[in-house]
Amino acid sequence: MNRDAGGEAIAAVQSYIYYLQRLGITELPVILAVPPVRTEAATLPAQGVARDAVPAIRLAQLAAAVHDCRQCGLYRGRTQVVFGTGDPAAALVFIGEAPGHDEDVQGEPFVGAAGQLLNRIIAAIGLSREQVYILNIIKCRPPQNRNPQPDEIAACWPILQEQLACLRPRIICALGTFAAQTLLQTEERISRLRGRFHRLGDIQVMPTYHPAFLLRNAQYKRAVWEDMQLIQRALGLR
Ligand code: URA
Repeated sequence: MNRDAGGEAIAAVQSYIYYLQRLGITELPVILAVPPVRTEAATLPAQGVARDAVPAIRLAQLAAAVHDCRQCGLYRGRTQVVFGTGDPAAALVFIGEAPGHDEDVQGEPFVGAAGQLLNRIIAAIGLSREQVYILNIIKCRPPQNRNPQPDEIAACWPILQEQLACLRPRIICALGTFAAQTLLQTEERISRLRGRFHRLGDIQVMPTYHPAFLLRNAQYKRAVWEDMQLIQRALGLR
């Protein structure tokens, strides 16, 4: 390997490690018994993902496999796919709607004003952002932050399913109408869904109001706090 190629290889490995860190992976197994990560565009999100790899590695493989996803038209306007962030072994996963401007630029969910509030909500139950996992129903920013369309949700659904198969959380907190209705496959209003656990297979799902909604309607903060206390209790945090 000549010097330039060596430098490029080191830079590529460093960039991949930073990428893994952003996904919440801080340790790697010494013997990596999984095939190399495929970085080309995947025609199906799960392609290139070794099913027997440890969850964090599978998650990283999935992120790499979908980083150039073009399964719906949103790729044309996005800066990047916003895959998710946090602890791959987290018992609690927060699911929002879609990346907004800040998330699209930074490549991480919930980093704007709603994200700051979400951080405070997470802290209120005794956890940090790094101890949970945060993702969205759809991974690319819709133009002008419009609601995701059915074809976009359908295109992103297999990625979400695979993420949940890797994460296997005990509890999902569904943030807002869109996440709650999509996950629970219902058209019931969020005001009727929140306040109690629903089931998604083995996973308990707590719908609650979206932080962006809370920023405009502070009177709903009490309801969110009640929902968070139910989660806190179910996780044995109080
Ligand atoms: N709103 C969401 O639903 N998700 C984000 O990532 C940011 C804002």
